[in-house]
Amino acid sequence: MKTTPIPTPYYEYNLGVLRSTLEAMLSAIPDPRYRVHYAIKANNNRKILNEIVGTGKIGADCVSGGEVEAAINAGFNPADIMLAGVGKTDREIQLALNAGIGCLNVESLEELEIIHQLATSMGVKAPIALRINPNIDAHTHKYITTGTAENKFGIPLATLDRAIEKALEWADGIELLGLHFHIGSQLLDMQPYVALCHTINEIQHHLDSLGVRLSMIDVGGGLGIDYIHPHENPIPDFGAYFSVFQKHLQLRPHQTLHFELGRSLVAQCGSLITQVTYVKQGLHRKFIIVDSGMTDLIRPALYGAHHHIDNISANEESIREKYDVVGPICESSDTFARDITLPLTHRGDLLAIRSAGAYGEVMASHYNCRQLPQSYFID
Ligand SMILES: *Cc1c(COP(=O)(O)O)cnc(C)c1O
Repeated sequence: MKTTPIPTPYYEYNLGVLRSTLEAMLSAIPDPRYRVHYAIKANNNRKILNEIVGTGKIGADCVSGGEVEAAINAGFNPADIMLAGVGKTDREIQLALNAGIGCLNVESLEELEIIHQLATSMGVKAPIALRINPNIDAHTHKYITTGTAENKFGIPLATLDRAIEKALEWADGIELLGLHFHIGSQLLDMQPYVALCHTINEIQHHLDSLGVRLSMIDVGGGLGIDYIHPHENPIPDFGAYFSVFQKHLQLRPHQTLHFELGRSLVAQCGSLITQVTYVKQGLHRKFIIVDSGMTDLIRPALYGAHHHIDNISANEESIREKYDVVGPICESSDTFARDITLPLTHRGDLLAIRSAGAYGEVMASHYNCRQLPQSYFID
């Protein structure tokens, strides 16, 4: 069997791709009032966080107290850290307030009341944005659609006035900064963002009439990447994404506009490298059984997600075969691809499962008493 720099399976991150992606994103920002926060949940590998912090221009978006700590330890400026999440515990809220983070995105009236209590008892003012559920269908996988009325996220539009009234009434412990939205993930069609802009314009118009002044709007993340053609299309079209907001969102002159990008910044820099343990002839199909499974990369099993796969050790480029690529875990969903064409593959070959830099390593588990995959960096 071939040897690799570290035991397979492992994550290989290409720092060149990461840096080009960050540069492309930063240089596409069309307005000095736009602020980008990296959604740490996509990948909290310390080296990746260091690269992002190193730009000096990107904040952090967190969804747990642990992520707030990870962001602070990695060197993000606390004022540029946000905390979202439907179920923030008292400890997480206290941690965020103690750390002096820039904004807590509040997802219910119930939570607003607790934040007010905790902040006043600590003698501080909690900077908050109200996360609104705009009831917009992002037309993505149902597990990653987050802005429709039936899901658990955000404050319903119908309750917005009451939430604002409460936030202003509780001004001794609450500083209302603005509004937050996040409609879903892996969006390739810009139409849902256009719809989001229109909804925000209507809300702002309504708030103007109530005399409510907000200093920030946060439109969340969700920009998708090309899982089908990662080699041809490694960098998302950040220009097209930002220009939707420039064109359709009526930002007030004094307001900042915040984005929380996760996948689009880190997905394409990572590959899961795995070795072929067996090539098994089934009754009707050929199976490539690899040494990585859903414990290393769960997206195919969880969302039916597609990842492009290359055989990086094949030299018999001319002969091609159809295979299913499967892992060793005792679950039928532990399948990376079905009916894909690859060069003739043998035991010991290395496969690279592409576009695995987001929601890959960070979702790995010990199920089946397996070890967590390590990571390796190409500079
Ligand atoms: C997951 C998440 C993001 C990032 O989503 P991507 O699709 O990875 O860009 C941003 N904001 C919030 C609140 C999230 O939950």
